[in-house]
Amino acid sequence: MLGRNRLAEVQRSKVQFIVVSSRMAVDGGHAGIGCDWDGRWNHVRKFLERTGPFTHPDFEPSTESLQFLLEKCKILVIGAGGLGCELLKNLALSGFRLIHVVDMDTIDLSNLNRQFLFRPKDVGRPKADVAADFVNSRVPGCRVVPHFKKIQDLDEAFYRQFHIIVCGLDSIIARRWMNGMLISLLNYEDEVVDPTSIIPLIDGGTEGFKGNARVILPGMTACIECTLELYPPQVNFPMCTIASMPRLPEHCIEYARILQWPKEKPFGDISLDGDNPEHIQWVFERAQERASEFSITGVTYRLTQGVVKRIIPAVASTNAVIAAACATEVFKIATSAYVPLNNYLVFNDVDGLYTYMFEAERKKNCAACSQVPQNLQFPSSAKLQEVLKYLTENASLQMKSPAITTTLEGKNKTLYLQSVKAIEERTRPNLCKTLKELGLSDGQELAVADITTPQTVLFKLNFIT
Ligand SMILES: [Zn+2]
Repeated sequence: MLGRNRLAEVQRSKVQFIVVSSRMAVDGGHAGIGCDWDGRWNHVRKFLERTGPFTHPDFEPSTESLQFLLEKCKILVIGAGGLGCELLKNLALSGFRLIHVVDMDTIDLSNLNRQFLFRPKDVGRPKADVAADFVNSRVPGCRVVPHFKKIQDLDEAFYRQFHIIVCGLDSIIARRWMNGMLISLLNYEDEVVDPTSIIPLIDGGTEGFKGNARVILPGMTACIECTLELYPPQVNFPMCTIASMPRLPEHCIEYARILQWPKEKPFGDISLDGDNPEHIQWVFERAQERASEFSITGVTYRLTQGVVKRIIPAVASTNAVIAAACATEVFKIATSAYVPLNNYLVFNDVDGLYTYMFEAERKKNCAACSQVPQNLQFPSSAKLQEVLKYLTENASLQMKSPAITTTLEGKNKTLYLQSVKAIEERTRPNLCKTLKELGLSDGQELAVADITTPQTVLFKLNFIT
């Protein structure tokens, strides 16, 4: 019940905030926009201009909420793929007009069966641009602004301008990064989060016939990292193993992918494309050579493709259900007219239809949202490799390529960094050294940067015996 009360509290403060801003719009003497013909928003008005059994306890019917949606409420949609197309269509038809969309991908022929804002002539063009153009031309008055970019290329000032952010991503890393960004925007006063600094995050995800939709009030309700253990553990291989002592076919594929590809540049200075059969073939052949060197069996083309590219099947109907649930939550929160989902919905249409909702709980020592210092417990004889393994394999951390730095004798020292080739080579020998040999002491602070978060995570090293 505590969670629910908190949610209600935030809702109340949001109600005040939103009512104030929409009142301003009305006081400004806006007389409506030319493209709003008679009856255009009747379907939305039914929810906002009369009360009902499910309206929010503090809800008062008025015409202001609709004006707020049409004129003031700024929504950010992350991803313009399967979920993104559905989300943009749903939001635009629900009265949202100030919508931004971020997507770094271009349109592929295989997208067209479900990403219905795209046509064969659009193949190769940025998804964000095409989706924005389509919605803007089809829904009069709607102003979708596209950003053909990575979410990591946009800064705090950009994200801060939105009332609500809705994610339709297929990448857990991007989702975690977005979660971290919204947590970094929070202001605290006496350890209590300032509700006006909260930007609600609605997160949708699908995988085949399974999907989920969730409402996150950063700093108030369970965040993505609080529930990280719900995601299946990722398979990650230590660099030492890949580079010098492979045992599994996967190690050989990773060797070809991570070490040989950037070195040999078989197709010029381009990154490996999991959709390009020639690229996969090249990695497959190199991995086979490596495997025979070490008498390892089991490297196949199919396995190579599976390791290089995590293949996620896409089902149009699952996307439609999840996007509809997410858009509904955006509508409920933006208008404060209805009680939002509290806070996690699962959907499954593998065998018939199944839906279930539960309240995911905050994790007391969440690395992202708890403000509790993170501890790392190792004996001083442990090797840095073990720390790295822990950071990547621990179910509640699941980092991807952590860069570990610390301060030794007043100087910043990089213990290990994987993402820059020269530094990786220089720091690789550290992996096989013990914490003691590296000069680390009990209580030492380790700063860990990773692609899963925009902020560095601080860990305190505790030596155990
Ligand atoms: Zn959290």
